[in-house]
Amino acid sequence: MSDNHDFDLIVIGAGSGGVRLARMSAQRGARVAIVESRYLGGTCVNVGCVPKKLFVYGSHVGEDLEDAAGYGWNVPLDQVRFDWPTLVANKNTEIERLNGIYGRLLENAGVTIIEGTATLADANTVVVGEKRYTTGHITVATGSWPVIPDIPGKESILTSNEMFYLPQLPRHAVVWGGGYIAVEFAGILAGLGVETTLLYRGDLFLRGFDEDVREFTATEMRRKGVDLRFGTTIEAVESDGTHYDVTLNDGTHLTTGLVMAATGRRALVEGLGLEALGVQLSEKGHVVVDDHFQTSVPSITALGDVIGTPQLTPVALAQAMVLSRRLFGDGQGEMDYHCIPTAVFCQPNIGTVGLTEAEAREAGHNVSVYRSEFRPMKHTLSGRQERCLMKLVVDKESDKVLGAHMVGPDAGEITQGLAVAMKAGATKAQFDSTLGIHPTSAEEFVTMREPVA
Ligand code: NDP
Repeated sequence: MSDNHDFDLIVIGAGSGGVRLARMSAQRGARVAIVESRYLGGTCVNVGCVPKKLFVYGSHVGEDLEDAAGYGWNVPLDQVRFDWPTLVANKNTEIERLNGIYGRLLENAGVTIIEGTATLADANTVVVGEKRYTTGHITVATGSWPVIPDIPGKESILTSNEMFYLPQLPRHAVVWGGGYIAVEFAGILAGLGVETTLLYRGDLFLRGFDEDVREFTATEMRRKGVDLRFGTTIEAVESDGTHYDVTLNDGTHLTTGLVMAATGRRALVEGLGLEALGVQLSEKGHVVVDDHFQTSVPSITALGDVIGTPQLTPVALAQAMVLSRRLFGDGQGEMDYHCIPTAVFCQPNIGTVGLTEAEAREAGHNVSVYRSEFRPMKHTLSGRQERCLMKLVVDKESDKVLGAHMVGPDAGEITQGLAVAMKAGATKAQFDSTLGIHPTSAEEFVTMREPVA
């Protein structure tokens, strides 16, 4: 650390990764500033994980009310009303509370918060408005932003950003894409009573997930009434501000009240001045870094969505811990991308950790596959037809569990525990010798005895 500069570290972007890096580094004694042009907490807190999960909770309530009758509760469903503005307002109050917490966390750690848009004047100088700040290190943690494909009428298409502040829900909505955000929002909208059509260009959505998971999720989403159309994409949209005429790739048209694109996110690097300084960007526009988050300019590092690693909050947080230690700690530490668990909060949830069956086979493993499909106990009385899928991919030689996959209620909660076991190298025999918790759905993961493949 040097006293020649205004700061030891300037972090650009106060999202999950940036805030964690700033706090940890300040707690290590570094003089740290963080620059943010929008909102504290970044995508996750403001227009991502947190408000999304609140909406997911909200969208489940309708089913819970329907299920109540089987348990003896008399809920007059014809009198049940849902008020979207109330949900949005309550969500906004919670997000503002979290913004405040983020601000206080930074201030209490001694981090200087600079509001505005940052530009890099040179490898050690950040300009925000009229002010110039010099620093030993700069970390780019600017995150990512939704991309809408370039089609006629794209300006009338919404992204997840706007969905969080929608003034009212339409009767019908089109969701475009087949990744995390598309399936999560299709579930939210359908759960809140919006007739929902999801359009995906490929044969089956959720590319990259286990094949069984993808098929099972499609079946369950269709059962809940979501109109899934695969091999279908949008060519153009025309809108008068209320109605949307969507032209599909087969030439047919769809009329809807809203079109939301969830067609991926790009790294947010415009205006930073990175290229002028010689910071290398990848073909996809990500900031290129080495294993220690250093860019092609030694004083500039980057982490989180902007570097093209898995776009997940816990990944950015872990990267921040490693980078802070490397910059201001003992200089040690490596980021471990092995066995990253993840959940998709569609309905039902998906939880997954480790390799898919196809990935395991491609990697040369001789695998055994264990699979269980059942109707969760709760639905024996509720009468709901929803089913649950659990799958383990096991290496025959070592007996190690290579992948665990689930579609069903609380899949995210259940998968977190499995991830610990798999990180510790658990074998199928150890899964088998673990006693179940009865009666739960999760116990199925330790009672699958006969391989299906
Ligand atoms: P994804 O990359 O997951 O999915 C993008 C989808 O859009 C894919 O289905 C893709 O199709 C499709 N697509 C891309 N380009 C086009 C195009 N030109 N025309 C038609 N379809 C297109 O992005 P998301 O926006 O859903 O999410 C971004 C990331 O955010 C995720 O990857 C995830 O890391 C993170 N996230 C995590 C969540 C969680 O942890 N629960 C929740 C939400 C987001 P194809 O498959 O054919 O390429």
